[in-house]
Amino acid sequence: MPRPKKVRCVRFLPKAGYFKPRGVPLMNLEEVVLNIDEFEALNLTDLEDKNQETAADEMGISRPTFQRTLSSARKKVAEAIVLGKALKIEGGNFVMATMRKFECAACGHAWEVSFGIGRPSVCPVCGSTNFHRVVEQRGPGAGRGLGPCGKGKRSR
Ligand SMILES: [Zn+2]
Repeated sequence: MPRPKKVRCVRFLPKAGYFKPRGVPLMNLEEVVLNIDEFEALNLTDLEDKNQETAADEMGISRPTFQRTLSSARKKVAEAIVLGKALKIEGGNFVMATMRKFECAACGHAWEVSFGIGRPSVCPVCGSTNFHRVVEQRGPGAGRGLGPCGKGKRSR
């Protein structure tokens, strides 16, 4: 059995899932498939100007994984534009996450911060910096509790 790929957190789905060059008949058209997680990596870095560390954290993946995802995304978009291919955005291994949840290890306080706001620097209750991210899965078939995106108490 193949080892499952690590799930990535994504905040929203693309507004348009298909881009087609004008004037190319469908039968001659080649397609590039950009995964939703690649789309999100591109969005966080190139549109929202986040650094890779922040972006990787928001997606709940390591920085090397994020880097691979981002360079794959850029290459696919370039391929579509340069070679006149259609770009289809779908699939990938991801869960929807709308809020980032943090939990303080010092006082046990848990709070949520919406995406788009930077990672908090201290616990708002006790001021401790000893807190970690907890992400609940909100995708189809998601269970309650600790999702795959949390960086803290993951059990292996
Ligand atoms: Zn605290």
